[in-house]
Amino acid sequence: MTRYCPHCWAEVAAQAEVCPHCGRSLGEDAADFLGKLIVALQHPDPLTQRRAAFLLGRIRDPRAVAPLGAVLAGQADVYVNGEAAFALRAIGGERAGAILAEVADDPSQSIIVRRMAAGTPRESPRGNSGQTGDAGHLGTGESTRPAADSASLQEGGT
Ligand SMILES: [Zn+2]
Repeated sequence: MTRYCPHCWAEVAAQAEVCPHCGRSLGEDAADFLGKLIVALQHPDPLTQRRAAFLLGRIRDPRAVAPLGAVLAGQADVYVNGEAAFALRAIGGERAGAILAEVADDPSQSIIVRRMAAGTPRESPRGNSGQTGDAGHLGTGESTRPAADSASLQEGGT
């Protein structure tokens, strides 16, 4: 099971009560983690936006599809857009597919983002094609099973 600290977004053990990375208490905010990530998609710092998009792709909650689509519609940073497209591919589904198809055909988008949306993973910001994710991207280094992520969050990280 993988959980993320709602304060610094480091990966933390499922049983941890205190984040080993930032030292803050885990738990009470975990239920709102998805909401925090969605808000962070509009953060002024592009690096924060990228991390939020990346983690939403890991969590794969369909509620993130519309906010990620909004990022792609309004955001100029190619890396943020690329991460958002990658997250949408990871989440999948009809709505995500429709957004990605639009982005792939949108000449105002960077070619990198369009390739990502079209499913050509060569230009992934992570340098791999894996929908299974790569924890090394965030420097946390622990391999994970993304399929378990949404379950663990919705159960409050049991
Ligand atoms: Zn933390």
